[in-house]
Amino acid sequence: MKYTIAVIKGDGIGPEVCTAAITVLQAVPGLASKLDFCEYPAGAEHYRLTGDACPKATFDACKAAHAILHGAAGLPGVTYPDGTEAGLDFGLKLRFELDLYANLRPIKLHPGIVSPLRHFSPGQIDYLVLRENTEGMYASRSGGTILRDEIATDTMLITRKGIERITRRAFELARMRNGALRDGKRRVTLCDKANVLRSYAFFRKVFNEVAASYPDIETDYAYVDAMTVYLVERPDFYDVIVAENLFGDIISDLAAGTVGGMGMSPSGETGDDHGFFQASHGSAPTIAGKNIANPHGTILSAAMMLRWIGERHVDQSLTDAAQIVEAAVSQALGSGTGLTQDLGGSASTSDAVRLVCQLVKS
Ligand code: ATP
Repeated sequence: MKYTIAVIKGDGIGPEVCTAAITVLQAVPGLASKLDFCEYPAGAEHYRLTGDACPKATFDACKAAHAILHGAAGLPGVTYPDGTEAGLDFGLKLRFELDLYANLRPIKLHPGIVSPLRHFSPGQIDYLVLRENTEGMYASRSGGTILRDEIATDTMLITRKGIERITRRAFELARMRNGALRDGKRRVTLCDKANVLRSYAFFRKVFNEVAASYPDIETDYAYVDAMTVYLVERPDFYDVIVAENLFGDIISDLAAGTVGGMGMSPSGETGDDHGFFQASHGSAPTIAGKNIANPHGTILSAAMMLRWIGERHVDQSLTDAAQIVEAAVSQALGSGTGLTQDLGGSASTSDAVRLVCQLVKS
């Protein structure tokens, strides 16, 4: 079977990191003939040129594809009249209209990377942040109000259906893992602010109802303010963390900072029928075009895409390919020669890609 991948390279460093990921996938023995990469335009630059950040033809192609691979979107100053960034519309449209409700962000300290957490070495940080991706604070985008130039509101939206499905996904993920590194316990932690807002208290109530069906997995809770401390002090305690959209966005960036920064932040946004894969970093325009962007986050996102397609279509060759790519990235980083500037190394984007390509072939 051949899989169609809709590719949107996007803005800033997006084209560099997206091309890097495709180059690596095409280097995996036997994989090139199974993937058909089709490129489409979208994003801030496309908006600047045409007045449309997400053309219908691009959206339709994404909807029809087996998976979507994205570089990065958004450029400062390319905004709508209300001040919000035009380039972000592409990803948001996909999230809401393709119902990509689960945003999975693996947090792993790879060999060769020095964590700013001095007590933690590679092999000691490895957990998942699962961000609810279609509700919460961001569901209000474009729907907020500004009254008399004095009062602004955006509304939090939480539904029982939304909580149930993201919570179930969190527990299913925990079942597939080996537990937290600290104690080997399978654990799902809910990150919220249930002591202050009714919507989060409701989230916790429904979370507990779903958790009752998973007695083999420990449940745990942390208020988001405390969580920012825990992720620094005891990242090895965590296995799977589930959070509302806005909180998940924030804590996953903090978590990425503990394992090498935004260049090491793979992500997969999936629903029941569609999958969208990109690193969680932005378009980093200040380093665009310089061949210094870290491509590993996007390469690892592409590996997540292979795994997701492989599982959906029961195609072991893609699952195996995902493992080959992940192992090659780890090896490239561990050797030191695959470390880009943001990781304290001297590899250019193309040096890192060349090395990962050699490793996937060997
Ligand atoms: P967004 O709001 O879209 O997430 P942002 O402007 O807040 O984007 P990023 O574009 O993610 O943030 O960049 C944050 C910082 O991380 C910048 O200093 C950027 O240079 C750096 N950075 C992000 N991605 C990479 C990467 N792949 N390689 C190297 N540095 C990166």
